[in-house]
Amino acid sequence: MANVTVLGAGAAGLAVAAQLKANGVDSVVLERGPEVATSWRGRYDRLRLHTVRRLSGLPGFPIPREYGRWVRRDDLVRYLEAYRERFALDVRTGTTVERVKPGGERWSMQLADGSEHTSRTLIVATGYLHTPVIPQWPGLASWTGTLIHSSAYRNAEPFRGKNVLVVGPGNSGAEISTDLAEGGAASVSLAVRTPPHIVRRATAGWPAQMNGLLLGGLPEPVFNSMAATMARMEVPDLRPYGLARPTEGLKTRLRTQRYVPLQDVGIVRDVLAGRVRPVAAVESFTENAVRLADGTTLTPDVIVAATGYGTGLTKLFDDPTLFDDTGVPLVHGGPSARPGLYFMGYNVTLGGMLRELAIESRRVARAVSALS
Ligand SMILES: Cc1cc2nc3c(=O)[nH]c(=O)nc-3n(C[C@H](O)[C@H](O)[C@H](O)COP(=O)(O)OP(=O)(O)OC[C@H]3O[C@@H](n4cnc5c(N)ncnc54)[C@H](O)[C@@H]3O)c2cc1C
Repeated sequence: MANVTVLGAGAAGLAVAAQLKANGVDSVVLERGPEVATSWRGRYDRLRLHTVRRLSGLPGFPIPREYGRWVRRDDLVRYLEAYRERFALDVRTGTTVERVKPGGERWSMQLADGSEHTSRTLIVATGYLHTPVIPQWPGLASWTGTLIHSSAYRNAEPFRGKNVLVVGPGNSGAEISTDLAEGGAASVSLAVRTPPHIVRRATAGWPAQMNGLLLGGLPEPVFNSMAATMARMEVPDLRPYGLARPTEGLKTRLRTQRYVPLQDVGIVRDVLAGRVRPVAAVESFTENAVRLADGTTLTPDVIVAATGYGTGLTKLFDDPTLFDDTGVPLVHGGPSARPGLYFMGYNVTLGGMLRELAIESRRVARAVSALS
């Protein structure tokens, strides 16, 4: 029994638990992994934040300066461990919640060990990028090659000398393509359905994230045309290499698809050098080949599906009216979705998710504290 329970000890869960504590409210944080920051521990080796350190820290304890401007994966994990220690947060690791149900005055959580945990207030912070999604392409079951989701990719070592097809030109797909090309894959193709918006991570020291923050409030058509002009100035024309320019505006895609642009940390260089070859979208599979949307076929040894994530929330809750058709809570980031129920960490903006969830943690903690 607890009065306030936070579900998930990632950045969002730790931030809100610390803010609650600052307001004099104790909480219990339930975490399925063996430590805090389970998601970041599982990400690929070369990963660094593409948001700047100063705008990625959690309330009350900034990310240490010595971690540099673009924080490495392992340093972010160290930071989140230190954050838990700093605020002496009560994190119960190895505790997986399988179902959540309303139960009178309290929320009832069914745990994987068969026990029940109840709480008057429940703050769900299980991550926007929770459940890896791989499209059910026709014929996939008959294909004999190796298929992994980008969430299972660590480094290029197992793929040395292999022909690899990476599917999806988002941040993970592009960076994994670069990693494979540098790490000795025999060939790297990148399948593209919708051409990405590509931005430089920083221009003359000015981070793309700041443009998102400062210009994000502009009307959509104005922002779209400014972003398109900047992209033409900053990013070489990759059309001769098989990568078209996007047709839909960046802010329109952010609004309609929660899309964030691809930050170039090597993909432009690799496409220009022919080390990563953009190809058409994947359509279907046969036993040995992948058929692409332009009618051509490829015969890769390995596919890395950088095809995104779902929130996994519709599996956790019985009530589908809490969520939109992509599984994102209809009410999140501050106000309660139901009495005593809060969701946070689902707001995708051009200013960075870590920055956004830090802001949300203050709002959610304020709302919960007012009722405690
Ligand atoms: C490759 C990659 C790079 C990224 N880079 C950036 C970046 O540079 N800047 C940025 O701002 N954002 C970035 N993000 C987004 C990033 O995911 C968020 O910023 C942040 O880590 C989200 O934190 P969170 O706490 O909401 O979710 P998570 O970090 O996913 O934490 C959720 C926690 O909940 C736990 N959990 C889930 N389900 C259950 C359950 N049923 N029971 C118990 N525990 C559960 C998980 O184990 C996990 O520890 C990146 C994401 C990816 C995938």
